[in-house]
Amino acid sequence: IFVTVEGLDFSGKSTLVGNLKRLLPEFHFTREPGGSPAAERIRELLLDPELEMDSLTEAYLYAAARADHTRRDIIPHLRSGRGVICERYLDSSLAYQGYGRGLGVELVRRLNGFAVGDLRPDVTFYLKLSAAARARRTRRRLDRLEAGGSEFMRRVEAGFEELVKREPDRFRVLDAERPPEELAALVHREISGLRRG
Ligand code: C5P
Repeated sequence: IFVTVEGLDFSGKSTLVGNLKRLLPEFHFTREPGGSPAAERIRELLLDPELEMDSLTEAYLYAAARADHTRRDIIPHLRSGRGVICERYLDSSLAYQGYGRGLGVELVRRLNGFAVGDLRPDVTFYLKLSAAARARRTRRRLDRLEAGGSEFMRRVEAGFEELVKREPDRFRVLDAERPPEELAALVHREISGLRRG
């Protein structure tokens, strides 16, 4: 089973995934951008605040990192019979590069076609954060200013909402303002149910 966790910056993805690690120790945990040695190097380029780059180049780099991560880490683990839980995956590229940067979701999907092959998450948990809560959380953590500011984030958010609407069967929408332990317990229950089903 391949599970992904998606959401805007500050939506609590890392906290949720951290708690799931304790509840589901038999799973392999990974994250994007990164997740394999080569992809982690590409992550450094992508997250370097000094380095400006063209949106298309950025989208290719995310896809390049994803190709390595998918083929060298995720697929081998799935083949060995292990479940995989990944923080961010293709949906992040569709939302950030497709909607946020304005490249268009179809272009970004095409560009990622070879990177992901026919791998699709069995279930995707989307941590939905209200604009007000996002503003509160962002103010508290101004050490990591997201590129493009809040207009950009609004587009990314609209992008995620659109993706959820298009594939309601794959997405589970979570209220990111619920207490972390509650969210972890909920996701744990869902995943355990899926494994039994
Ligand atoms: O999830 P994490 O905080 O590690 O993501 C690092 C940064 O990369 C975030 O600030 C996010 O805005 C950005 N990102 C992006 N496009 C993606 C994935 C992440 O711009 N496809």
